[in-house]
Amino acid sequence: MKKVKVIKIDVDKCNGCRACEVICSAFHSEPKYSSTNPERSRIRVLWDPLKDIYVPVLAGEYTEAECNGRDIYTINGKEYDECSFCRASCPSRKLFKDPDSDLPLKCDMCEDEPPLPEPLCVKWCLSDALTYEEREEEGEEEEKPGEMEIGLESLIKKHGAKKLKDTLARLAKD
Ligand code: SF4
Ligand code: SF4
Repeated sequence: MKKVKVIKIDVDKCNGCRACEVICSAFHSEPKYSSTNPERSRIRVLWDPLKDIYVPVLAGEYTEAECNGRDIYTINGKEYDECSFCRASCPSRKLFKDPDSDLPLKCDMCEDEPPLPEPLCVKWCLSDALTYEEREEEGEEEEKPGEMEIGLESLIKKHGAKKLKDTLARLAKD
């Protein structure tokens, strides 16, 4: 059995305060809590007060290809733009990419040593728009790629393994 961590998102309770973005970027800064920048957060809130739309979205997988089409959802009379609920770090938008390096950002559920009782965005959401659950599922625990692995993988996809290897070798010499 493997443990699956789930953050449930209630868009009706989100008020767009963006505390989740602030704490996520602070927790993942180097050193920890040294800076805040929502653009480096692994959770972003789609924010449109005029339409009363606030959608927190957790960063998911990196993908090198963008979709050929787009979806528009209407839910309870509110129209949600294309890509509103999508978690991908993809070429069609800036979301979930580090603003300096352009490397993909992905939610890691605040996995840390020692483990936190719950993810920090959940803890900081005073509106209870985010709630945390753990459940067991069939299957083996998978080894999760670290931040560096995710970044290197995206660089290999973008530039090719040989170019990356040559560049690393050159930098190591400098
Ligand atoms: S902290 Fe909660 S209420 Fe505030 S923006 Fe994030 S999800 Fe919404
Ligand atoms: S669970 Fe942690 S890493 Fe994921 S979005 Fe929330 S604060 Fe960021």
